[in-house]
Amino acid sequence: MKTARAIALLACAAALLSSCSRSRFACSWPVEAPRITQDYGCYACTFPEKYHSGIDMTSALEPAGSLSARVFAAADGIVVLAHGTCPAEGEPLCGGGLGNHLLIGHDNGYASLYAHLDRLRVRPGERVARGGVIGTMGSSGNASGVHLHFDLISFTPANAGGIGPRYTDNYPEENGHLDPKECVRHMVVEISGETVPVLERPASYHIPSPDIITTVAKGERFVALAESSSWHYLSLPSASGPAVPPWSPGAVYGWVQGEREVAAEGSVLCAARNRGRGSIPVYAGQGATLSALTRIWEGQHYLFRTETGAPDARCGDNQWYRIDLPASAGAREGWVNGEQLRAVK
Ligand SMILES: [Zn+2]
Repeated sequence: MKTARAIALLACAAALLSSCSRSRFACSWPVEAPRITQDYGCYACTFPEKYHSGIDMTSALEPAGSLSARVFAAADGIVVLAHGTCPAEGEPLCGGGLGNHLLIGHDNGYASLYAHLDRLRVRPGERVARGGVIGTMGSSGNASGVHLHFDLISFTPANAGGIGPRYTDNYPEENGHLDPKECVRHMVVEISGETVPVLERPASYHIPSPDIITTVAKGERFVALAESSSWHYLSLPSASGPAVPPWSPGAVYGWVQGEREVAAEGSVLCAARNRGRGSIPVYAGQGATLSALTRIWEGQHYLFRTETGAPDARCGDNQWYRIDLPASAGAREGWVNGEQLRAVK
C-alpha cells in the first residue's frame, strides 16, 4: 500500500514537473548548504523599483570570508566564457564588476553565471557535469564580501549572449534572467510527526546547539528549496510581511529535519510563488468581488490545489486555486487566481 502510494506520488510529481513549470530545465544549487544572502527579484520594491538579477549565496559549511567553498556546475553544459584574471579583491570594475566569472551554456538556450569567484577550475570549451567543481567562492570584482552571485539566464533573440546587469531598474526576466530557485529541485514536504523545530542551521552540519527559529506543526506543508540527505531547506515568510504562513518571521531561511513527501489525496498539488509584483490577494471564494482574506507577499511560496480530474489541471494558469491558510488568517482555506502565480519546480 505504501509502495503504491509512493509510486502514485512520483507519477504525480512527474506530471507536475511537465505541466507546472514554464521551463523543464533542472539544476542543482551551485554550493553546498546554500545560505541566501540576497535573493532574486526586487530589493527596492516600491517606485523606483530596483531588482537583483540572481541569487547571492554563501555556504553554511564555511565560516564567513573563507575561500574554501567549492562552486559546482548547476547543470550539465559547456563553459562558454571564463574570466579568471581579476585579483582576489580591490578592483571593483574587474570583469565588468563580476570579477572572476564563468558562464556555462546548457540545453535549450539556458545558461548559468557564477560571479566573484576566487579560482576557476575549468576552461572555455570544457564540458562540465552537473555537480562538478568549477571553481571556488571569492570576492573578486564588485563584491562586498566572499559570496557567489548565481544567475540563471534564458537566452532569446532579444538578449542573445548578453549577461546583462546584476542590478537593474527593470524586472530581470525582461533581460532573460530567471529566478534560479525555479530550476532547483523542489519537494513538497508534510510534517507527519509532532511539531518539529525549524533550525537556523541543520544539526547535521555539526553545529552543537543550533538555534531554533520557529516550529512547524503536524500536518503543515511547505516547499523545500533543497534537500541535503534528510534535511530540508525552506524559505520562511518575510519579516516585513504579515504572519500569513504558519511560520513566524525571524529569519529568511531555515532547516527542518526530513519528513515525508506528500501530495494531498484527491487533488493536485502545485507549488507556486508570488511573481514578485506586489502582494496577491487571497479570497474567501472564487471571484474578484469577494473580500480578500489575506495576502501573499513577494517571494512567498505556497501550495495550491486544483480539483481532481480537471483535464487542464496546471499550476500558474489563469484559473482559481484552493490554498490552505494558517489559523491566524481567520479561515481554513482561501482562493487565489493563478494568473498572478508562477509555478515552482
Ligand atoms: Zn548578486
